[in-house]
Amino acid sequence: MTTFTHAGDFDVIVAGAGPAGLAAAALCAEQGLKTAIVTGPLDPFEKRHDPRTIALMRPSVRLLEHLGLFAPLKDVSNPLRKLRLVDDTGSLFSAPSVTFDAHDAGWDAFGWNIPLQNLHPALAAKAQELGVEFIRDSALGVGAERRELARVKLASGGELSAPVVLAADGRNSRIRGSAGMLMMRHDYDQVALGCFFSHSADHGDMSTEYHKPQGPFTTVPMPGNRSSLVWMVTPEKARAITGLSPGQLARRIQLESHGDLGKVSDTTELKSFPMQTMVAHDFAKERIVLVGEAAHAVPPIGAQGLNMSLRDAALAAELVGDAFAFGEDWGAEKVMNDYDRIRRRDVFPRKIAIHVVNTAMLTGFLPYQLVRAGAITLAANVPMIRDIVMRQGLAPSDEHVPRIMREEDLAAD
Ligand SMILES: Cc1cc2nc3c(=O)[nH]c(=O)nc-3n(C[C@H](O)[C@H](O)[C@H](O)COP(=O)(O)OP(=O)(O)OC[C@H]3O[C@@H](n4cnc5c(N)ncnc54)[C@H](O)[C@@H]3O)c2cc1C
Repeated sequence: MTTFTHAGDFDVIVAGAGPAGLAAAALCAEQGLKTAIVTGPLDPFEKRHDPRTIALMRPSVRLLEHLGLFAPLKDVSNPLRKLRLVDDTGSLFSAPSVTFDAHDAGWDAFGWNIPLQNLHPALAAKAQELGVEFIRDSALGVGAERRELARVKLASGGELSAPVVLAADGRNSRIRGSAGMLMMRHDYDQVALGCFFSHSADHGDMSTEYHKPQGPFTTVPMPGNRSSLVWMVTPEKARAITGLSPGQLARRIQLESHGDLGKVSDTTELKSFPMQTMVAHDFAKERIVLVGEAAHAVPPIGAQGLNMSLRDAALAAELVGDAFAFGEDWGAEKVMNDYDRIRRRDVFPRKIAIHVVNTAMLTGFLPYQLVRAGAITLAANVPMIRDIVMRQGLAPSDEHVPRIMREEDLAAD
C-alpha cells in the first residue's frame, strides 16, 4: 500500500480563528496533522467583551469535554434544564406556551450556556497547546489550481500550501469566494440585539423564547441571577432601543419578559448583529472545506448556529484524520463528498425550520399563523412530538453526529 505524501507547507490550513476554526484546528492537530491557522485581523487569545452567550447542546459539550475545556469553563456557564416557548405575537391564533424539560428526555440538562468571551480564548489556548501554528495574517483567497495542493494567498504577500484548507473565515469568507463556491442568501429586515442583565427572580436554569411580531426575544440563563438577551427587531426599532438609557433598557426588558425574571437591572451595552440566512451550495469541493459561518449562517433561533459549526469542525477533523491515519489523500474527492453529504443533511432542514419559524412570526398572513400556532400546540400537548422536537433540536440522529460528539454519559450530568 502506498502512503500519501505531499510537498505542502502544512497538512491542514485553517483560515479564520473564530470558535469554529479554532475547534477544527485543535481537533486536526490532536490527530498528528501539521496544522496552521491564519488568524485574520483579531487576536483570538484576547478576551474581548462579547454580549453573546452560546447555548451549547450536549453534543457540543461533549466536544469541549473531549478537548478538556468544559471543566475550566463550567464556573462561568449555566446549565440549560428547561426551554420555554411563549407565543407573544398577539395573533388571532395564539398557541399555549410550551416547556421542554431535559428530565423528560432522561437528561440532566440540554446543554450549557457559555459566554463566547470565555469560550473563544479558551479554544485558542487549547489549539496552541496541541501544536497548531498561529499565522498572524489574513487569507486573501486560494489559487485556482488545486490538483495536489491548495495554496492560500496571504495579505502580507506570502503563500501557504496544504492538501486541505478548512475555510472558517466567517460569513464573508474570502476563501469560499475565491474558490467560486456559491451561497444561497436571504437577508431579513431584522437585527439581533444582545446584552447581559441581572434580575431579582431565579431563572430556574430555563431559557425562554418569547415569539413577538418582530421576531423572538430570548433570555438565556447565566450563573447567579443573571441572563443574556437575544432580541430580534427591525433595524429602525433597534436604533430606538440602543438609544435608551441603562435604566430605561432594564425597564423595557422587564416589560417584554412580562416580569417573569422579576426586577431587571445592570444591563451591559447592547450590541447589534445583522440577520441573514446563508447556506453554501457545496460544503466541500476541490480541497476546500467550508466550516462554521463560512458554510452557513442562521438567525439565533433555537440556538443552532455554533452547534452546527462545531459539528462541521468535528466532522472535518474526523474525515481528514481518518484518511491521514490510513495513508490516503485527505483532500481527495471522497473526503469532500462525504463531508458535503453529511453536513448537508444536518444543515438544510435546520436552515428551513429556522426560516419558517422566523417568517411565521413576522407575517400577518392568517393561514401561516394558524400553522405556526398549530405546530406549537401539538408540541405542547403531544408528548411524542415534544420528544422528537427536543431530540432533533439538540442534534441530528447519531449516525450523522461526529464520533467525538456522540451520546455518552456526560460528566456534566
Ligand atoms: C446574538 C447571537 C446569539 C447567538 N447565540 C447562539 C447560541 O446560543 N448557540 C449557538 O449555537 N449559536 C449562537 N449564535 C451563533 C454563533 O455566535 C456563531 O455561529 C459563531 O460565533 C460563528 O463562529 P464562526 O467561527 O463560524 O465565525 P466567526 O466568529 O465570524 O469567525 C470567523 C473568523 O474569521 C476571521 N477572518 C475573517 N476574514 C478573514 C480572512 N480574510 N482571513 C483569515 N481570517 C479571517 C475573523 O476575524 C473571525 O475570527 C448566536 C449568534 C448571535 C448573533
